[in-house]
Amino acid sequence: MTKQFVFKGASQMPMISVSLGHMDWNKTGAWRAQRPFYEDKTSPCSAACPVGNDIVGFIQKITEEDFEGAWNLIREENPFPGVCGRVCFHPCESKCNRREYDEPIAIHALERFVSDFASNLNKKIRKGPGARKNKIAVIGSGPAGMSCAYHLAKLDYDVTVFESSSLAGGMLRTGIPSYRLPKDVLDREISNIAELGVEIRTGIPFGEGLNLDGLKNYQAIFIATGAHRGRDLHVPGGKGRGVFSGLDLLKKINLGRKVTLGDKIAIVGGGNTAIDVARSVVRLGKKATILYRRSKEEMPAFGEEMVEALEEGVKIRYLVNPIRIQQKDSLHRLECLRMELGEKDESGRRKPVPIPGSNFFFEADNVIIAAGEEVELFFLPKGLEKREGIVLTQRDGNTGARGIFAGGDLTSNQRTVAHAIGSGKKVALAIDCYLNGKDSEEALRQILTGEGPSISMFRYLHPQERLMNPHVVTFDELNTDYFEPSRRQRETKDLIKKRIKGFREITSGFTEGIAMEEAERCFSCGTCVGCENCYVFCPDASIIKIGEVLSHQVDYDFCKGCGICFSECPRGVISLKEEAR
Ligand SMILES: Cc1cc2nc3c(=O)[nH]c(=O)nc-3n(C[C@H](O)[C@H](O)[C@H](O)COP(=O)(O)OP(=O)(O)OC[C@H]3O[C@@H](n4cnc5c(N)ncnc54)[C@H](O)[C@@H]3O)c2cc1C
Repeated sequence: MTKQFVFKGASQMPMISVSLGHMDWNKTGAWRAQRPFYEDKTSPCSAACPVGNDIVGFIQKITEEDFEGAWNLIREENPFPGVCGRVCFHPCESKCNRREYDEPIAIHALERFVSDFASNLNKKIRKGPGARKNKIAVIGSGPAGMSCAYHLAKLDYDVTVFESSSLAGGMLRTGIPSYRLPKDVLDREISNIAELGVEIRTGIPFGEGLNLDGLKNYQAIFIATGAHRGRDLHVPGGKGRGVFSGLDLLKKINLGRKVTLGDKIAIVGGGNTAIDVARSVVRLGKKATILYRRSKEEMPAFGEEMVEALEEGVKIRYLVNPIRIQQKDSLHRLECLRMELGEKDESGRRKPVPIPGSNFFFEADNVIIAAGEEVELFFLPKGLEKREGIVLTQRDGNTGARGIFAGGDLTSNQRTVAHAIGSGKKVALAIDCYLNGKDSEEALRQILTGEGPSISMFRYLHPQERLMNPHVVTFDELNTDYFEPSRRQRETKDLIKKRIKGFREITSGFTEGIAMEEAERCFSCGTCVGCENCYVFCPDASIIKIGEVLSHQVDYDFCKGCGICFSECPRGVISLKEEAR
């Protein structure tokens, strides 16, 4: 008996005929030296995502036109898809296997698409059903604090967030400019969290009006106050009139306050804050020059941001270090030294070394210092261990002080939105364990291995430790014969002239059609999508479909272990192991 098959994703392949017959009397499985088995593995994108998004999962939903399903899946892990779809530095894309084939999947743009879709339909997250359990205080309403509050509220805790500023959101509100992250997107995601029952009390600085005594009715406290102090330059004149901190300037602009600047602005620094300041200054109609002490290769700013800044007219002078700022009337003269690169320092970048006698002057109306951010430690409860400017915690965010946890920028130098969101999520689990007398390390292990209660929102927790199956699929494990080269879809950006006229968002999201096209490019590494190559190619007809098309089993009575299913699986879902003898 033969049957003809045409299979998905292989338009270039001819129709083929395969045998479906069994010879029941001759159980050829006994000849097998190696055993194929189905094994969903971890995709490299999910392994690289500090938030722990099920990236292949939500992209598959997009291909099925189930945008709401995609949204639900993302929101299991992340309350900020609209934010992440816009400003996450998308480490997932740099690990995408498709990068080695043609171009990586535009994961960030797909996440943004899903979040925009949900907001257009006014989709809300469901409230937890149960009565509120213990009271938890979260200090700081940045992505770390809000992510922790979100997951705790979903676990039915009674959460109050205390925020010193007048508005919630942390650096998403006061640091990142609106042309990258419109504030209505942030407002919407924060209000979705509040609708779960999280109370957000603004204008309450911990360490001033509020202290530990005032929080004694709370059974656990999560401190996520970020890094809000602009680093000093420590040069003469570095605090003079007309010299500003980059963070202060961005905060003023973001909160719609008045900003008075001259025409020519020098920005000192090389990170994302320097780029955001420079691009904001350009939008205020000024000329911006960044002075950076190392070379382009060492610049910590995100590459895409740098490209956009240069397009918008920002100038960058490399290997230049100001050593003095002199003021004459309203003009500032920055005495600078030219630098060259020496040995690598502890950050792994080559150290800038001054070239003796290379002094020169750079004139500007204002100087803005954007040389990095530091953590404010003075208001923190006594007894917290600190080292090199951050608070030390255990892996789960436990500070060692009873019931006090910490996370986000306060405890780490990774300093990204995604790391902050991931850290808040992990602390939510740790607090849940702490309040239920469970060991959080053990709970984490059980969740990750599927032994414990299934709390799907914690399926993917943290790089290296989150993996249900620690096997991360590599490019070599895929059979790319079944994929066709295709161009990555790109979000459209406003023309430069229009961009620099104001602070409106410059990037437009995908349409449904484009999102589905881009999602179709995903290799779905390690996840079976039911292409049926295994079923079609098995020469022994030993692949059994169980109910749904996505579920298969190997009939070991007849499988001879030829390995054809393994090599024809496009997605690396089938593994082979040596047969026990
Ligand atoms: C200019 C700039 C641009 C950036 N751009 C990006 C980007 O594009 N992508 C990216 O991934 N990362 C970016 N980052 C980094 C990212 O914003 C941070 O890593 C992230 O916001 C850290 O989150 P957090 O919750 O730990 O702290 P924060 O976001 O800093 O939030 C801390 C909150 O605590 C509050 N707080 C502080 N002290 C107290 C107190 N005593 N009592 C009560 N509340 C208090 C603060 O007001 C703030 O709301 C950027 C950072 C800056 C400065």
